Amino acid sequence: MGLKLFNTLSRSLEAFAPLDPQGQHVGLYCCGPTVYDYAHIGNFRTFVFADLVRRFLEFKGYTVRHVMNVTDVDDKIIAKVRAQNGSLRQYTEPFEKAFFEDFTVLGCLRPHDLPHATGNIDSMIHLIGRLLERGLAYRAADGSVYFSIDNYRKAGAQYGRLVKLNFEQMRPGERIRSDEYEKDAVADFALWKARVPEDGEVFWPSPWGDGRPGWHIECSAMSMQLLGASFDLHLGGEDLAFPHHEDEIAQSEGSGLQQPGQRFVKYWLHGAHLLVEGKKMAKSLGNFYTLRDLLARGFVGREIRYLLLSAHYRESFNFTLEGLQGARTALARIDECLDKLKTCAGTAPAPPEPGFITRFTEALDNDLNISAGWAVVFDWIREKNRQLTDQAMTPSAAAAALAAWQKINNVLGIVSADLADAPREIIALADERQAARKARDFKRADALRASIKTQGWLVEDTPQGYKLKCER
Ligand code: AMP
Ligand code: ZN
Repeated sequence: MGLKLFNTLSRSLEAFAPLDPQGQHVGLYCCGPTVYDYAHIGNFRTFVFADLVRRFLEFKGYTVRHVMNVTDVDDKIIAKVRAQNGSLRQYTEPFEKAFFEDFTVLGCLRPHDLPHATGNIDSMIHLIGRLLERGLAYRAADGSVYFSIDNYRKAGAQYGRLVKLNFEQMRPGERIRSDEYEKDAVADFALWKARVPEDGEVFWPSPWGDGRPGWHIECSAMSMQLLGASFDLHLGGEDLAFPHHEDEIAQSEGSGLQQPGQRFVKYWLHGAHLLVEGKKMAKSLGNFYTLRDLLARGFVGREIRYLLLSAHYRESFNFTLEGLQGARTALARIDECLDKLKTCAGTAPAPPEPGFITRFTEALDNDLNISAGWAVVFDWIREKNRQLTDQAMTPSAAAAALAAWQKINNVLGIVSADLADAPREIIALADERQAARKARDFKRADALRASIKTQGWLVEDTPQGYKLKCER
């Protein structure tokens, strides 16, 4: 069985086949963070989910280009900048830095492209211009530009692909300026927002006067620019399906840049929410934990990642501190078994044990059924423990088991226990060093190694990535 994914477009499981005629390259876009505050672990559930999708596709041999945008201008950010009297960048920079530190602590692979909204205003202006030319957008009296849902539908397109909408409730011509709105407020949405005094210094020039882009156009412009007008996978949390993703489809397909018969996105995947006592974990409800809150309570990144990865991505689940204790116990079982296997294994390399990999692949092929994947892992741990106790494990069998684990863990991304103890700053530096090495900037890589060393840590490179050892 090959990989099947639940596509929100068809509301059904579909066999995954990339658009690439060679079946090799896969374009993946996940809506990234709005850097107006620290992200909470509900947000990170969605990013860990995207990381899983990418890792599993890579495990299956695809070459993935993973794009995640950084929303560094929007209504919420502008409100904060105004309250603090600083510049936009001064406000967003520390939150962005914190976000990527957390991202690393949670074992998420850095996306290949991280386009920033503020760095791509030109391509948004270009796209808005195209929508105007095609009669799908119009200028309002204040200079703002809106998307015309009515004209889009009159042109034969369907608005309401990801969610069912009631057009009876829609009053043509009614407009929404705000980036976030409810389903019952189907109305023309802003592509370009004319500058208002409250925007302060946050504005860009455009053919329609000073202003700033709406949130939705950002993702359409940046995803198409980097992945092409049609690409394979678009991910996000379920709350983004409407209006954000619906509007992305309207803008992108309204641009007419796709080849005939092609859509903007082939598969839309939406991750369910992380809940607290049955309610969505959200800043606005005040029921959230940031990663930092949990680290301060003595938990480590791998435990939080494990918990966020424990349930199927389309199932919501309640976050509890007991759940995190459970994650700790589960990881200790894995660590203990791996330690014993390492002691038993010979030094000779062995090919990975195949059965484990086959069973795990089958579980995840079924719409990334990670809970079934964990069941395979723990059955395997039980079997290995039994063989170890019965003295039925040969060094080469232990080496083959470890090699299989290595492959599986490329998907799970559970960092080894020694790395988990390293402080976030050190991991961030080591990550930067790895990126510098990849970019063949060895001077910078060496400088980073030296800086890590002065802080008491030694970085070692292995075929599976780097390792950190505490020297103190
Ligand atoms: P934001 O930074 O608010 O734009 O959100 C970033 C991502 O987090 C989006 O994909 C949201 O859908 C997702 N998200 C927000 N709250 C939750 C939650 N409680 N559980 C899972 N994902 C969430
Ligand atoms: Zn988006």
